Amino acid sequence: MSKLQPARGTRDIYGEDARRMAAVVDCFKATATQYGFEEIQTPIFEFTEVFKRPLGEASDIVSKEMYSFEDRGGEEVTLRPEFTAGICRAFISNGMQQSLPQRLMAWGPVFRYERPQKGRYRQFHQIDAEILGADSPETDVDLIALAWRMMKQLGIADDTVLHLNSLGDAESRQQYRVALVEYLNQHKDNLSEDSQRRLETNPLRILDSKNEGDREIIKDAPSVEDHMTEEAAAFIASVQNGLTALGIPYVMDDKLVRGLDYYNHTVFEFITTALGAQGTVLAGGRFDGLVSQLGGAPTPGVGFAGGIERLAMLMKAAPAVARSVVLLPMGEAATLKAFPIGEELRDAGFDVVADRSGNLKKRLNRANKNNARVAIILGDNELEQGVAQVKDLDSGEQTDVALDMLKTVLAPIMSGDAE
Ligand code: ATP
Ligand code: MG
Repeated sequence: MSKLQPARGTRDIYGEDARRMAAVVDCFKATATQYGFEEIQTPIFEFTEVFKRPLGEASDIVSKEMYSFEDRGGEEVTLRPEFTAGICRAFISNGMQQSLPQRLMAWGPVFRYERPQKGRYRQFHQIDAEILGADSPETDVDLIALAWRMMKQLGIADDTVLHLNSLGDAESRQQYRVALVEYLNQHKDNLSEDSQRRLETNPLRILDSKNEGDREIIKDAPSVEDHMTEEAAAFIASVQNGLTALGIPYVMDDKLVRGLDYYNHTVFEFITTALGAQGTVLAGGRFDGLVSQLGGAPTPGVGFAGGIERLAMLMKAAPAVARSVVLLPMGEAATLKAFPIGEELRDAGFDVVADRSGNLKKRLNRANKNNARVAIILGDNELEQGVAQVKDLDSGEQTDVALDMLKTVLAPIMSGDAE
């Protein structure tokens, strides 16, 4: 290996990328907290079974994207390809059904063996919110409102369109499946190989196909809407009413099925045209059967996951680095004295960076380049008199300040209140 590179589909995240991604997570945490969510951390790997059945053997993730391996003890484990199944497993393992509903938030890396491209990686990061133990359509509205509020805070809500659909309840889905298979069978020979296979295993998934030929056929496919039970129709209508009451714009999209088996009733995606083919930034839906499928007591659930990289890319401006105070000790005695001075200023809440190398001119240049706000120059002579020079790096103004007055003098400058 002549050049050390990260593995395909993975990347090092630092600098502006890291700041953008941290801003997304911070905003998500703050917003979800406002809606009563609490953090949960589940393991990055789980027994493969946790994902396999719930997501569906025929789903893209299970059939070709999971990082699964046998560990040294012979256990079949998988790096999490998403959060929901692991969180439901944790819900059961920890007896969380004792207190419902549970509003849980999580964030971190997820892993899928995909063809890497812009906005599509093998290790990527998601924010995730799940509400377990609440079956009302209003719960779905709360969850979408949380996503919407977060994206507004990030300044990206208007760059996305909320697509909404209902997969109905089990009965609606069964009826729809029959109608869909009947229609698709008439076009079987023109379907892609993948879709022909899915006609047997998972026909709903065909609606999700990205194949051009498939898309032509799908255009005229029957719609779930026409096969909805009264109950299921009332459910999605309540979701729509809630969104309207909140003024959250959405479009109904009867071809939206989501890539996983566990969804029923509400499904939704926030889609953007700004990121090419990687248009879905945040997506989710209701999964009333998942907890019982994993072996827990029947518990309704609804949740979403957002791609942190994609949300971060949509943000217009990268968050700025906080402007700091630089400490420039110019002699031996000053170097030692600068340690406690730095700590005292940090106690007062300032970001303080010491720079001890090179002559004064070099250090001031570096401070300007790093967008520092103020330089404190500490010379051995000045120290003897108990003073330091404070240089405002924006105005260039330089004044002698008594050491015990440093905090007071810095406060208005650092908070932007200086005239
Ligand atoms: P896509 O259709 O783009 O493959 P998906 O339906 O597989 O997305 P979900 O399983 O719903 O995606 O995951 C939720 C979010 O995670 C997506 O909306 C997207 O923002 C993000 N995401 C999914 N896969 C990747 C990936 N490989 N790299 C980066 N982000 C991803
Ligand atoms: Mg995918």
